[in-house]
Amino acid sequence: MQRTRILCLIGSLLAIPYAASADPQPQPAVNAPAPVEAKRAAAAPVPAPEQKAAAPANVNDGAGTKAAKNDKKEKKPKVLARELFGKVPTAAALAPRALGWYSKGCLSGAVHLADTGPDWQAMRLSRNRAWGHPKLIKLLKRLASEAKQDGWSGLLVGDISQPRGGPMLSGHASHQVGLDADIWLTPMPNRVLTRREREEIQATTMLDKTSLAVDPAVFTPAHVAVIKRAASYPAVERVFVHPAIKKALCQAAGKDRAWLGKVRPIWGHYYHFHIRIGCPNGGCQSQPAVSGDDGCGKEVDNWLKTIEASLKKPQPKPGVRIIPDSERRKVTMDQLPAECKVVLNGPAAKPDTGDEVASTPAPAAVPASATASK
Ligand SMILES: [Zn+2]
Repeated sequence: MQRTRILCLIGSLLAIPYAASADPQPQPAVNAPAPVEAKRAAAAPVPAPEQKAAAPANVNDGAGTKAAKNDKKEKKPKVLARELFGKVPTAAALAPRALGWYSKGCLSGAVHLADTGPDWQAMRLSRNRAWGHPKLIKLLKRLASEAKQDGWSGLLVGDISQPRGGPMLSGHASHQVGLDADIWLTPMPNRVLTRREREEIQATTMLDKTSLAVDPAVFTPAHVAVIKRAASYPAVERVFVHPAIKKALCQAAGKDRAWLGKVRPIWGHYYHFHIRIGCPNGGCQSQPAVSGDDGCGKEVDNWLKTIEASLKKPQPKPGVRIIPDSERRKVTMDQLPAECKVVLNGPAAKPDTGDEVASTPAPAAVPASATASK
């Protein structure tokens, strides 16, 4: 949990300077399951926006009813944006638009990535976070298909965005505008996973025992190839990975290094890599272009030193102010782009949660040509 908290924090702090926001995808300590995160999302108390303040939110249970009464007298608590966006089950039937910033925004006209496609399987379905801007969903399908050339039979897709984007009840600070997606670094099994398996299977860490380098028995040339492929798409502006993975990519890249600059080191991200595409429409904020540097010199080495120091002292990093999770998440609707209210209250698109492939025998059995046009 400490680790998750730190990730959240670092992510939010870095959101602007690095344009790398925050992606505190729950990073399970070896066997600590991400499903906890999912459960938390499902079970988190969600006060209705119009709910009378007399019904105290569970958060205040410990303080007792006295405090709740005082609160009521003083002012009506503001409803947090995450409580609104976190419970909308379907997309807004509006034109597709990413609105705001990667870690402070929302998404209209989202498209749902099918649970199972010819060459991908979405994970943690209970979170309902497989929604994205149509351009991102299209790109994910393309990557899933083309990654076969890199030795991947398919991709396990982690969180993308909520149906209308926005802040989440748990995890990620970014992923709010439908332009971010997590891809597991665990190869997809050659069969369709059950819903339960998709909740329970643990991703594989790419790190060795030192946590400062990749384990060559796990992190293979196929991993290098798929990350390179993702970073090489012009639409992809950033790929976030753990510094040890970045270091391994630097060492494996050879002469073709142009793509490396987009691959940014960040906390966590040793179970999955994170793809971010650029702002595709007016109304969202673009991140600065990466410099021409491949980031393989001092930058990645300094990152590894910081990681090493944090491992010795698993406390807050020096100079970093720990912002409690509760504070970081106190974004209200007023702090999001005004259009996010329209998105939130917009008409619901018809649900789309089915599989892309009606009855899938085994994903790898589907010829690549079946999806070549995507
Ligand atoms: Zn992510």
